[in-house]
Amino acid sequence: MDLTLSPADEAFRAEARTWLAAHVPQTPLRSLETEEGFAAHRVWEAELAADRWSVVSWPEVYGGRGAGIVRWLVFEEEYYAAGAPGRVGQNGINLLAPTLFDHGTEEQRARILPSMATGEVVWAQAWSEPEAGSDLASLTSRAVRTNGGWLLSGQKTWSSRAAFADRAFGLFRSEPDTPRPHQGLTYLMFDLRAPGVTVRPIGRLDGRPAFAEVFLDEVFVPDEDVIGEPGGGWRVAMSTAGNERGLTLRSPGRFLAASDRLVALWRGRADPSDTALRDRVADAVIGARAYQLFTYAHASRFLDGATMGPESSLNKVFWSEYDIALHETALDLLGPDGESADTDWSEGYVFSLAGPIYAGTNEIQRDIIAERLLGLPKGRR
Ligand SMILES: Cc1cc2nc3c(=O)[nH]c(=O)nc-3n(C[C@H](O)[C@H](O)[C@H](O)COP(=O)(O)OP(=O)(O)OC[C@H]3O[C@@H](n4cnc5c(N)ncnc54)[C@H](O)[C@@H]3O)c2cc1C
Repeated sequence: MDLTLSPADEAFRAEARTWLAAHVPQTPLRSLETEEGFAAHRVWEAELAADRWSVVSWPEVYGGRGAGIVRWLVFEEEYYAAGAPGRVGQNGINLLAPTLFDHGTEEQRARILPSMATGEVVWAQAWSEPEAGSDLASLTSRAVRTNGGWLLSGQKTWSSRAAFADRAFGLFRSEPDTPRPHQGLTYLMFDLRAPGVTVRPIGRLDGRPAFAEVFLDEVFVPDEDVIGEPGGGWRVAMSTAGNERGLTLRSPGRFLAASDRLVALWRGRADPSDTALRDRVADAVIGARAYQLFTYAHASRFLDGATMGPESSLNKVFWSEYDIALHETALDLLGPDGESADTDWSEGYVFSLAGPIYAGTNEIQRDIIAERLLGLPKGRR
C-alpha cells in the first residue's frame, strides 16, 4: 500500500487547515453534555455545514463534498489537530447516516440527511434496554401495527445526549412469537418530543445531564420511518453496529492530536529521569501512529471493494483501551493537579472509562474476535 497522499489530497488538507484556523472558536465551547453547551455545538455544526465541512465524505446532494474515505481521514486529522469542538451530531452522522446509505430509501436519505448535516436535527441512539445491552436481541420494546404506521411502547436506556436531542433510532419487537430472538425486529426512527415519549436524564459520574432513558407509551411512527423491511431490523442494526465499532466513531485523528498534547505535557512538566513515564508517553505516540496506519490499511481495502466485517471489533477494543492508557499517563504526568482540576485530561479520563462498555462491551468484542476472526471454539455462555 502506498501511503503517499496525492497532490489533490494534500490540497484538500491545506484547504481544511486554513478553514479550521479561521473558524475554530478561540474559547472552547461548554460541554455538549449540558443544555447550553449542546445549543452552542449545534451552532458550530451549522457553521461547519455552511462551508461543507460537516460531512465531507457524503455526496454533495446531501451537504457533503463527495470526498471519500481517505480525505475524510485527512479532514479528521486536521480537525482534531486544530482543537475543534466535539461533534454533537455524531450519532446521526456516524451511525444512522451509514445505515441509511446501506438500507434506507432515496426518500429517507433526501428527507433526513440534510438537516442532520447542519445540526438542525440531532439524533440519539435508542437501542439498549434495562434487560438488553450485550444481549441486544432480548429487547422487549414493541412496535404494534396501526393504520399507516406503528405504535411504539417500552423503555430504552443509556441513550447518549437523548436529553437534548430531537429524534432517535432504535430496534423494536414487531413479531412477538418468532422462533429466534433476532427475528421479528423492526428498525424505526421516532421523534423524542412526540406524544407518549418521556425522556428522563440519568446522572453521570461527572454530573452532566445529557445521558437519558426514554419511555415510550404508544408513540405513533409513520411507515415512512421504518428502515429496511419490517421484521428485518436485525440485519439493518448489524450494519449500524459495524460502523459504530469500526472506522468512523473514533478516528485516528483524535488520538494523534491527543498524543501530541501528551508529548507537549511531558516536555513541560516531567522529570526527565522518570523513564517509566517517558516510555508510556512513547507508547501513546506509537499507539496513535499504529492505529492511524491500521485505519489507512482498512481504508485502502474499502477502496478495493471490501466491507467492514467482524474486524471492527479489533478497532473497538484497541481504541477504547488505548484511550484509557493515554489519559492515565496524562494524569500521572500532571500529578495531584490532574485529579483536582477540571482539565480536559480529567474530563477525558472519566469519559474514557466508559469506552470498554459502550458500542458493545470489550468482553463481547473479544468473543467475536476469538470466534469469528481466529476460528476458536465458542466459549460457554
Ligand atoms: C457512556 C455510555 C454511552 C452509551 N450510549 C448509548 C447510546 O447512545 N445508545 C444505546 O442504545 N446504548 C448506549 N449505551 C449502552 C451500552 O451499549 C451498553 O451499556 C452495553 O451494550 C452493555 O450492556 P449492559 O450495560 O446492559 O451490560 P450487560 O450486557 O449486562 O453486561 C454486564 C457485563 O457482563 C458482560 N457480559 C455480558 N454478556 C456476556 C457474554 N455473553 N460473555 C462475556 N461477557 C458478557 C459484559 O461484557 C459486561 O462486562 C451506552 C453506555 C455507556 C456506558
